[in-house]
Amino acid sequence: MKVSLMHGAGGEVMQELLRVLTKLTHTNAGGIGLEALDDGAVIPIGGKNVVFTTDSHVIRPIFFPGGDIGRISVCGTVNDLAVMGGRPVALSCGMVIEEGFEVADLERIVASMDDALGECGASLVTGDTKVVEKGGLDGIMINTAGIGIAECVIRDNGLCPGDRIIVSGTLGDHGIAVLAHREGFDLGGQIVSDVAPVWGVVERAVSAGTVHAMKDPTRGGFASAINEMARKAGVRVRVVEEDLPIRTSVRSASGMLGIDPLQVANEGKVVMGVAEEDAETILRAIQSHKYGKDAAIVGTVEEGAHVIMETAIGGERFIEPPIGDPVPRVC
Ligand code: MG
Repeated sequence: MKVSLMHGAGGEVMQELLRVLTKLTHTNAGGIGLEALDDGAVIPIGGKNVVFTTDSHVIRPIFFPGGDIGRISVCGTVNDLAVMGGRPVALSCGMVIEEGFEVADLERIVASMDDALGECGASLVTGDTKVVEKGGLDGIMINTAGIGIAECVIRDNGLCPGDRIIVSGTLGDHGIAVLAHREGFDLGGQIVSDVAPVWGVVERAVSAGTVHAMKDPTRGGFASAINEMARKAGVRVRVVEEDLPIRTSVRSASGMLGIDPLQVANEGKVVMGVAEEDAETILRAIQSHKYGKDAAIVGTVEEGAHVIMETAIGGERFIEPPIGDPVPRVC
């Protein structure tokens, strides 16, 4: 078997590769380890829950509507910390740069990283830079790792029957914005990536009520995230199509591109399962944040299995996790 692009796409095919990559025996430092395949690890140190995660970024193009590889490098890691309940504290950054890369572009990238760090109150405290010969890489690759502190760790496997499912905003913006830009579609410039740090949204949600499970719907989109959450908790999720917030522009671009907006990456959103009695309070708390104003309650958790969508025309269908990401290299 050779590695294919599908193996990096975050869908079902990636599970094959993960079986190879997780053939390690030293995978747990005493808290939540690699075997959980959650958004990050949790290591108990000195009575604190230290959340630890890493993420590599190979997005093409490196500048896209609404962001760039610098912003996404910070947000990708910060958001994985946030959805574990971790307040982001410190990040590392490893850059591999192709010979001939413009220093002015590097300056733009670093400035965006700095803006994103400022927004969530984290610092970039250590880094490494390597340069490879021309042709050895497509421009630049950035890996970040980060640590956060969680007062209360929230897993992606905690959904309970009765819970309400909240999404913190419109779905599909990032994947569709990048793809439309890459394909040269002129959509009037109205579709921009949602790339943003979600810690502020998470902080308001967890202070407003009981959050049982969280995940950021990145590669594979909402469809992948909600299926993983349902499968890990051994429950069924019932979603109401008309309640899913999707921008009209994203919906029409998705139609033109033949892509399901529920299967493409979001980079500034959270999917949560929250206690039924707290759902409205948590929703309002999320909506009070600038990155949560389009948040919505989109479904409920029941006994059973799979994710079922009640469609706008009155039917029902499964929301399946994508086999591979229909849009490669979006993060
Ligand atoms: Mg994640």
